[in-house]
Amino acid sequence: MEKMNDLKDLLRHEIEDLYSAEEQIIEALPMMIDNANNQTLKNSLNEHLEVTKAQKKRLDQVLKLMGPNENKNRKGFLSGLFGGKQECKAMKGILEEGNKIMAEDMSPEVMDAAIIASAQKVEHYEICGYGTARSFARELGLTKVQDLLQQTLDEEYEADNLLTVLAESSINQEAESTEDSASASSGRKSSGERVTRSEKQMEPVSNRRASASGKTSPGNGKNSGPRKSAGSSERTSRSSGGRSSSGSSRGR
Ligand code: ZN
Ligand code: FE
Ligand code: FE
Ligand code: FE
Repeated sequence: MEKMNDLKDLLRHEIEDLYSAEEQIIEALPMMIDNANNQTLKNSLNEHLEVTKAQKKRLDQVLKLMGPNENKNRKGFLSGLFGGKQECKAMKGILEEGNKIMAEDMSPEVMDAAIIASAQKVEHYEICGYGTARSFARELGLTKVQDLLQQTLDEEYEADNLLTVLAESSINQEAESTEDSASASSGRKSSGERVTRSEKQMEPVSNRRASASGKTSPGNGKNSGPRKSAGSSERTSRSSGGRSSSGSSRGR
């Protein structure tokens, strides 16, 4: 690719990467929606598909605001032919992994848990990309670009949090007890064990929250740990303890 001389060039590169990511997500989501069994999960993914289409348009706006890429123009017609499209290989890989797991033979409940896992990998990649691009835009004083990127970043956080709620309030539990569904309601593990598991699954979320939130009281046994303090997503799945008043302070 062309040489990048300053932060604005790098920002453009990140934007084009995100553009490719969003395009790929728009293509991939219908199959995830198709494979999902839980109606709430289906609806949420469907909604995020519409949101994602709007995000792609927002990136068009961003690119327009940033003006033409002078480096690219200097290189002549070849870069005009091939330089326009940049593929996000990371998103390609994440989505390939998702397709691979969805092709496995599994019960509907486990399928839903797997789809959420894949979808959250997608969201976390986007959160990284948009967070970085937003910060670059802020540094460059591109206020309008910064605002547009922040809007999308907020939406990605929202999607991610919604998936966490879905997983931890019902879908993970359903997947857990799928083996002996006869004793589904009585055969669950203790809640402490469940929390441990989901903490592993949601590690990046927990890292983010840990830094954005206050700490819970130490030595509080099963309810201690960073995940329980911030954000709305804990509310539905946890019956007691661990809440702080820090509220949601995501991503700013
Ligand atoms: Zn590149
Ligand atoms: Fe997106
Ligand atoms: Fe990428
Ligand atoms: Fe997204």
